[in-house]
Amino acid sequence: MTPSSHGKPADLVITGCTVLVHDDREEIGFREDAAVVVRDGVVESVTTAAAVDGLAAADRIDARGQVALPGLINCHTHTPMVALRGLAEDLPTEEWFNDVVWPVESNLTVRDVILGARLACAEMIRAGVTTFADSYFHMDAVAAVVTQCGMRAQLGQAYFSSQGPEGLAASLEFALRRRDGAGGRITTALAPHAPYTVADADLAATAELARAHDLPVHLHAAENRDQTDTSLARHGVTPIEVLERTGILDTDVLIAHGTGITEGDLPLLARAGGRTAVATAPRGYLKFAWPTTTPVRALRDIGVPVGLATDGAASNNSLDVWESMALTSLIQKSTENDPRWLTSRQALHHATVQSAHAVGLGDTVGRIAPGRRADLVLVDLTGPHTQPVHDLAATLVHSARSADVRTTIVDGRVLMRDRELLTVDVAEVARELGERLPALTDRGHGRRVQEYDT
Ligand SMILES: [Zn+2]
Repeated sequence: MTPSSHGKPADLVITGCTVLVHDDREEIGFREDAAVVVRDGVVESVTTAAAVDGLAAADRIDARGQVALPGLINCHTHTPMVALRGLAEDLPTEEWFNDVVWPVESNLTVRDVILGARLACAEMIRAGVTTFADSYFHMDAVAAVVTQCGMRAQLGQAYFSSQGPEGLAASLEFALRRRDGAGGRITTALAPHAPYTVADADLAATAELARAHDLPVHLHAAENRDQTDTSLARHGVTPIEVLERTGILDTDVLIAHGTGITEGDLPLLARAGGRTAVATAPRGYLKFAWPTTTPVRALRDIGVPVGLATDGAASNNSLDVWESMALTSLIQKSTENDPRWLTSRQALHHATVQSAHAVGLGDTVGRIAPGRRADLVLVDLTGPHTQPVHDLAATLVHSARSADVRTTIVDGRVLMRDRELLTVDVAEVARELGERLPALTDRGHGRRVQEYDT
């Protein structure tokens, strides 16, 4: 079908850009002086600028000097935690949870969650992120923000076993009620917090419900080596073995972090009956001084996709997936002692196809190609720090920054145009959030939502 074969004008035509494309083997390539035609929220064609000359369109973007990339995907975050950004610094994991984060989270109100999610979405849209996977509390509030701000998200209502049976019931009720919301932009997951906060029986019940209702599972597991060691000492099994024996590995499960995955866990992950993926958020690992990182190379060898993530801003300080992409490349080179490993093209593969698979959208987003949802960003490479360009993949991963994203588009709708946010009023959100911070951060009550004891 040619772009001009329809009677009505295209919704959006982007011209003059270089487009990141994937071939049949998912190899990354770049198509120069290209045009992208968007109709009904979908990429209709990736073609030449000449082919769209004179094509009727409701909106046109002249993107000369820019590169069109699939929108970035934040595969594991807790958006409302931007409200805690910078509140608990330079602490080990246990003190970070027990002394600051979990006491403060016992104060959380729906309004705090709305404002935090709004700020987070604004930050991500500005950084070229079009989709995020979020597990937190008061997720109806996050769903409302996603609906309004135009992003795409996989949302899960988090729960602990300490909440009793209501925790899992609420997570299921949310997942069933909200899936396919916001015109299909919202997908959902069951979201047990982690094997050290959710009992085996509850994990097994979660796995059964996930299979019965065709829902994915999003949880933290084997976050760090200490958790794995403690699990072995107390229960004689690793956290991944817990996921295996409770049936979670037979679901479509997204595991956050996995820096404590052992050699012995790999055959379990390779044999998993569902579609397992891991999200890596390397900035936090460096900050908490964890001794290991996500074993990306070992996971690649057994066919487990690794998506890029930031975790919440209380640990990561930013929701900048572009930075996660560069850090993943650097840390993998350093950890594997191999400069040839995790090339820029591999990093872009994690950022696009693998991240899309990780959040269950492998057939929907992650590529700019006919039939895919039109989630894409335009990146300006005319700045001095990105010139000259010898290797465009390297320029994108190691020279460009999230601030070089000029335009962010989800489902064909422009959410940021030439750096101007069109769906979130940041000043207003920051003002109201600022007023609420004293009540939110009060720890005088001595309560906490949960105890960190791996
Ligand atoms: Zn997390």
